[in-house]
Amino acid sequence: MRLTALCTMMMITITVQAQIKKAPEIREGEGPFTQLIIRGVTLINGTGAPPVGPVDIVVENNRIKKIAIVGSPGAPVNTSNRPVLVQGGKELNAEGMYLLPGFIDMHGHIGGKEQGTDAEYVFKLWMAHGITTVRDPSAGNGLDWVLEAKKLSAANRITAPRIMAYTAFGQGAKEAISTPEAAVAWVRNNSSKGADGIKFFGAAPLIMKAALEENKKLGLRSACHHAQMDVARWNVLHSARAGLTTMEHWYGLPEALFNDKTIQDYPLDYNYGNEQNRFEEAGKLWKQAAKPFSDHWNNVMNELIALDFTIDPTFNIYEANRDLMRARTAEWHNDFTIPSLWKFYEPSRISHGSYWHNWGTEQEINWKENYRLWMTFVNEYKNRGGRVTVGTDAGYIYQLYGFSYVRELELLREAGFHPLEVIRSATLYGAQALGLDKDLGSVEVGKLADFVVVDANPLQNLQHLYGTGAIALNENNEVVRKGGVVYTIKDGIVYDAKKLLSDVQRMVAEEKKKTGFKISQPGIKTF
Ligand SMILES: [Zn+2]
Repeated sequence: MRLTALCTMMMITITVQAQIKKAPEIREGEGPFTQLIIRGVTLINGTGAPPVGPVDIVVENNRIKKIAIVGSPGAPVNTSNRPVLVQGGKELNAEGMYLLPGFIDMHGHIGGKEQGTDAEYVFKLWMAHGITTVRDPSAGNGLDWVLEAKKLSAANRITAPRIMAYTAFGQGAKEAISTPEAAVAWVRNNSSKGADGIKFFGAAPLIMKAALEENKKLGLRSACHHAQMDVARWNVLHSARAGLTTMEHWYGLPEALFNDKTIQDYPLDYNYGNEQNRFEEAGKLWKQAAKPFSDHWNNVMNELIALDFTIDPTFNIYEANRDLMRARTAEWHNDFTIPSLWKFYEPSRISHGSYWHNWGTEQEINWKENYRLWMTFVNEYKNRGGRVTVGTDAGYIYQLYGFSYVRELELLREAGFHPLEVIRSATLYGAQALGLDKDLGSVEVGKLADFVVVDANPLQNLQHLYGTGAIALNENNEVVRKGGVVYTIKDGIVYDAKKLLSDVQRMVAEEKKKTGFKISQPGIKTF
């Protein structure tokens, strides 16, 4: 997303918008401790291994030192096996809970001016949902600002996930990049400033090729949203061959799969600047591609896998296209969506991703079919050994930070992933795609202490990971909430996830009081 904003932004030097960027102090977290022992937990380690427990996990100086099995399920804990707490150490009783590696959001814009969301709001929603690493695809608040936030987060001076900064290609350039030489110069400059990678939106073939090859040579990684304006001449296959490491969303993939046309079947009065047009026609795109399991479909998939190419589908961000009412009326909006963000979501001819000029049954049915074909590709990609990751693109189209991450997990499940495959995509595969798997992505001895602890089994119901939990009926016939992350642990620092959520709830309530804002359904009369 952010394409419209970026087109104008790329030409100008970004100024840091300090007033909307305050980030929370570390005081929310407890630690780090010389030794941290998490006791009696059931471990889902992120590698695809099944749950095992109870275990005690010992962390020393932010590294996992030991994972000790301390009993059998349903039997008393074997105390002789238990690691001993050293003086000054900290114990966390997690009996009956589940522990997973910290989640990685591969597509996390840190809000911004358009949405009126400050960093504290975004960071807390992420951390409350167990997200301990995000890739910022475009450095929308400016590279300097993102690198500063990254540094503060790495030093744990703010409550925030680790940040990987992938600058929007061309950001900060004095004029549009129109030659391969200018592309190479920009790529070198981006690397020397300390960015972790580049986010592309497509460009002329010679420029894409030069930029991707130079970026790869420098050892950086890359993401691309293959926007419609360049996709007829440069699709996902071209990018993958030139060294792109991850594709975002899905654009550019059906185009690589065309076998009876070379350009999307645009209606003749289409205008890319009209987002109703853009998203409505996108909903008819997958059925214009080669049929699932046909020769061409197979060949494209196999080539991408051979290139070690990562797909980051961000299924959730298009969900309003197949079910607008679901996205608009999600139960968390009222308490957790800040008024300015709600206003940004509402139908508009100007805001990006707010294209509900005329959206109804026909558009939604097309998109349901679009999803079926897209999900078939992504699930088979995973089955053949391809890497699929979890990214959200939250802050657009009724998708809220943190909550949308759990929804993305559910949509991978819908695509056909086993819940353990879903968790692996959220953790180990994300770390691999970012080049961080030496330290992150799974709970194994020697890795860093980034964990999610939840008090209900997330494999049985991924909805247990929503901040608002999942609905259940108790023995007294009362509706209760089960789940919600209990602790998010980053760098061995323990954050009370419910406390982070209540902070956000308070922020939203204060903002509503100040502005007199109430979420409403436009045009509905009181009868
Ligand atoms: Zn985006």
